Amino acid sequence: MKLSNLTLNTPYLSLDPIFYHEVAPTPLHNPRLVSFNPGAAKLLGLDPAHLTDEELEKLLNGTLFLEGSRPYAMCYAGHQFGYYVPRLGDGRAINLGCANGWNLQLKGSGQTLYSRQGDGRAVLRSSIREYLISEAMNALGIPTSRALALISSDEKVARERWERGAIVLRLAPSWIRFGSFEYFFHTNKHKELESLADFLLQESFPQFVESEDAYLKMYGEIVKRTAEMIAGWQSVGFNHGVMNTDNMSAIGITIDYGPFAFMDTFESGYICNHTDAQGRYSYDNQPRIGYWNLERLAHALSPLVTHEKLQTELEKYGSYFTTRLMELLRAKLGLDTPQENDSDLFRTLFSVMENGRIDMTPFFRTLSRYGGNRDVLLALTLAPNQLNEWLDTYDTRLAQNTLSTHDRHTQMLYTNPKYVLKNYILQEAIDAAEKDDFALVNDLLILAQNPYDEHEPFERYAGVTPQQHTNLKLSCSS
Ligand code: AMP
Ligand code: MG
Repeated sequence: MKLSNLTLNTPYLSLDPIFYHEVAPTPLHNPRLVSFNPGAAKLLGLDPAHLTDEELEKLLNGTLFLEGSRPYAMCYAGHQFGYYVPRLGDGRAINLGCANGWNLQLKGSGQTLYSRQGDGRAVLRSSIREYLISEAMNALGIPTSRALALISSDEKVARERWERGAIVLRLAPSWIRFGSFEYFFHTNKHKELESLADFLLQESFPQFVESEDAYLKMYGEIVKRTAEMIAGWQSVGFNHGVMNTDNMSAIGITIDYGPFAFMDTFESGYICNHTDAQGRYSYDNQPRIGYWNLERLAHALSPLVTHEKLQTELEKYGSYFTTRLMELLRAKLGLDTPQENDSDLFRTLFSVMENGRIDMTPFFRTLSRYGGNRDVLLALTLAPNQLNEWLDTYDTRLAQNTLSTHDRHTQMLYTNPKYVLKNYILQEAIDAAEKDDFALVNDLLILAQNPYDEHEPFERYAGVTPQQHTNLKLSCSS
C-alpha cells in the first residue's frame, strides 16, 4: 500500500474530551529525512518501496494529511521520582491516529495544552537515541514502542546549548500509561476512570472483555508483562533511567526512552541518569521500582476492583520476574534444563563481572564460544582468579547439559548479542548527524535490527568500551 492510501482512525477521540486535546503539529523549519525504517512501514501495511523521502518528510513534519487523521495530545499524570504530579500529558507528542493496530505518534512536533513550560520540541540527539534504541530493543526480544522514521531540521532548540529540532514518528499498540489512570483517580473522576479501563480492554486486552473480572484480569496481565519486560532489561544490562509512572506503559512495553544506557562494565548500582542523584532508577533498583509503580496503578484502579484482589495479582510480580529472568539467564549461559542451584551460579557470575570490571556484552558473546580454553575470557577481567573459579563451576554445570557443545554455541550466539547500542556508539552517530551526515545512523539501524549477526565493518563496536566512555551518566535534557 502507498502512503496516500493509508487511512487512520482515532478511537481515543470517542472518549470524553477531557482525555485529550486536539491540536495540529507545528512544522519544523527546513526538515530533512535522517532515516526511515522499512520494517516499521510493513507493520502499517505500507510497501516500503513505494514510500518517497519527500512524503515521509512531510508526514513527520505534520504537513501531509492522511485520510482520517485527527491529531491530538493525551492527558495523563504520574509519579515523578516518587512525587505525584497532578497533570502531565503529551507536552511534545502528537498522535495522528491508528492503522493496523499501531498508534502513530509524532514526538517533538510542537506545543500542546500539556506543554507546561516546555517548547514542545525534541532535539536531534535524543531523537536519534530513541529511534535506534526502540529498534534495538525489539530485535533483542524486549517489548517496546517502534519507530518509522526520523527527521532533522534547522530549527534551533534551546537546551544546555542550541541544538537541532527533530521529530521521530513512533508506533505503539497503545500509548496509555499508568499515569493515565492516575490522572482520573486523583481528580476523583471515577466514571472517566472506568471509561479508560474499558477503552484499554477493548484496545489491548480484548481477550478479557467478556470476562466477569475483566479489570482484574487486565491488571494481572499488566503485572506479568511489566515484570517480564524488566527481566528482559536486566538480562541485557539495560538501564531505562526515568521509570516515572507516566513513562510506564499500560501494555507492558518499554516507552519514552531518555538518558537510558546499555551498561558497559557491569556495575549493579549503575545510574545512567545524571539527575537521579539518589539512584532511584539505578540498574539494580529497576525490578523494585516496577513493583512500586504497579502499586500506584493498583491504587488508581481501586475504585473499580477491591484492593485485596489487586494485591493478590500484584504479589505474583516477584515470581513472574524471577521465572523470566532465570529463563533468560539460563539461555545466556546455554543451560538446557533448570537445576536447583542455578540462581547461585548466576549470582556469583554477576559479582565476578562486577569485581573484574567486565564489559557484559563482549563477555557473554565470548562465552558463547567457550569450549574449555579460558584465555580469551580471562583477558576480559581484572580479577582472573574469581572468573577461573566460576568457570570451574560452570564446567561442572555444563556437563549436566543434554545439548552438544556445538548446539550450545549456536544457541548462545543467538541469545547473546554481538552488538548493543552503547552510549558512545550512539554519540558517534549523533555527532555526524548534527553535521547532516546520516550514514552512521542508518548503519546503526541495521546493527540494531540484527544484533546477533557479524557486521565486519563495525567490528570495533563489538569490543570492550574504551575506558573514557565507560558507564557515563547522561543528562535528562532532550
Ligand atoms: P519525559 O520524562 O521526557 O517522559 O517527560 C515528562 C513530561 O514532560 C511529559 O509530560 C512530557 O510531555 C513533558 N515534556 C518533556 N519535554 C518537553 C518539552 N520540551 N516540551 C513540552 N513538554 C515536555
Ligand atoms: Mg514521558
